[in-house]
Amino acid sequence: MKTVMISTVTQEEAGTTLGAGLIRNGELVAFPTETVYGLGANGLDGEAVNRIFEAKGRPNDNPLILHIARKSDLKKLWAHVPERAFPLIETFWPGPLTLIFHKSDIVPYEVTAGLETVAVRMPSDRTARALIRKAGVPIAAPSANRSGRPSPTNAQHVFADMDGLIPLILDGGDCRYGVESTVLSLVGEPTVLRPGAVTREMLETVIGPVKLAPSILKPLGEREKAASPGMKYKHYAPDAEVIVVDGSPEETAKCIVSLYYDYLEQGKTVEVLSTKQTHFRYRGLNATEIGDRVHPETLCANLFRELREIGSACDLILAEGIDTNEEGLAYMNRLLRAAGFHRIDASRENSKK
Ligand code: AMP
Ligand code: MG
Repeated sequence: MKTVMISTVTQEEAGTTLGAGLIRNGELVAFPTETVYGLGANGLDGEAVNRIFEAKGRPNDNPLILHIARKSDLKKLWAHVPERAFPLIETFWPGPLTLIFHKSDIVPYEVTAGLETVAVRMPSDRTARALIRKAGVPIAAPSANRSGRPSPTNAQHVFADMDGLIPLILDGGDCRYGVESTVLSLVGEPTVLRPGAVTREMLETVIGPVKLAPSILKPLGEREKAASPGMKYKHYAPDAEVIVVDGSPEETAKCIVSLYYDYLEQGKTVEVLSTKQTHFRYRGLNATEIGDRVHPETLCANLFRELREIGSACDLILAEGIDTNEEGLAYMNRLLRAAGFHRIDASRENSKK
């Protein structure tokens, strides 16, 4: 299959019209959103949805998110809309917040991986909304990467993973947030299943206490059931190995410099993911400044791009752990999965030397 790329910066009208036609025909279209690029299919057509799983190589017990263009479309997809959904929708939609509740009969089990609940989001990205509106159906869309790889935050990353597998990529440039949406379950007590740009703190100002799923910062225990099935799989993994070093910025940088030379001696090529606050500590080392610790959203925006680009050019990435407040939680959730939870405590490591 030939994969065509159309810029929606210069040809939004033509691109979204072509894309909507393909979606209605049961085909797949990759499109930009404010979080990451999505790989979309008609969310009411089980066969079309199955093509997403094939193209991504995604395990079929990992459910998808339905994307809508108007708030009122939610009613058709949920059995009913619970009271506490309304203030959340008013505050955060359109935007990077996915809500989960009991599904209605029109939602196929291919979307929910057999679950009785369905995840729905209304993106703020203009191209995404135009595509959904013109398709006239909710669009089921996971991130447009091959399963297990870092999510794509530009059209070139989608092309690298999906060339030959899908007919169309809409190219809208770089994604604003760079990490996937916050996933909040409204079944039972409100629980964040996956952190994102809409933080727990922001949710709590609107609906009061919100729980965090235990799997956000650690791997699932063998007998634990995944509240968010996607979280049990290896995720966001670049070609290179990743190690996360935790501690104060000073201790962390000291530990990373020492590890850097240890691995260099072993013949490995190493890159450091530094932050604005620590970059100067890595003078003479291969280091890329990924963002500002005080504004963790800047780290989120660059993480997947750096994992792909640096990750294909070295053997090992040494990355700094950061505080898990606000957007720091989304950053650490993705980074720890990219590292397969390989983390080193800086102060313990430094005291060994
Ligand atoms: P992605 O498609 O890669 O953005 O991932 C979607 C995330 O939402 C995955 O972690 C899924 O496991 C999660 N998800 C989607 N639908 C549900 C659902 N009904 N219940 C729990 N988690 C869900
Ligand atoms: Mg994904």
